[in-house]
Amino acid sequence: MSDLLLNACVFCQICNNNHRTVPFEENSKMVVFNNVTPAAKYHFLVAPKIHIDQTNLCTEEHIELIHDMVDFGRSCLLERGGDLEGSKIGFHKPVGTSVSHLHLHCIYPASEISTKYQMKQSEVFISPDTLIGNVKRKLRFQRDGNPK
Ligand SMILES: [Zn+2]
Ligand SMILES: [Zn+2]
Repeated sequence: MSDLLLNACVFCQICNNNHRTVPFEENSKMVVFNNVTPAAKYHFLVAPKIHIDQTNLCTEEHIELIHDMVDFGRSCLLERGGDLEGSKIGFHKPVGTSVSHLHLHCIYPASEISTKYQMKQSEVFISPDTLIGNVKRKLRFQRDGNPK
């Protein structure tokens, strides 16, 4: 990844406090900030501080980070009075990626999400479990040649 590309990535700029969007939560690995076009009352994005292109996601070393992102996003929703049952939490499939920097959408309440947005997102959103399942399946395939 060249410096030029890194500098061009909006989410890297946010992680480095170099953007008008300021994270409201962060830890050593990731930041949380508001989506510019919220789909409901709360719509956060959780992004790792390291640049991971979504399409290059599928390696074993990222599984722990994915779990951490989900935990952090959930705790941010819970702290603000959200509940997990009523939330929508998901990653984009690579094809639906708006920004090529891995990020998790955390939306609450899911009941506020417009039909138009849902239709758009149902095409492109995958749950964290699905994503981790895909990563593990790909790993098994690379190791054993057996994609089950
Ligand atoms: Zn980035
Ligand atoms: Zn997104």
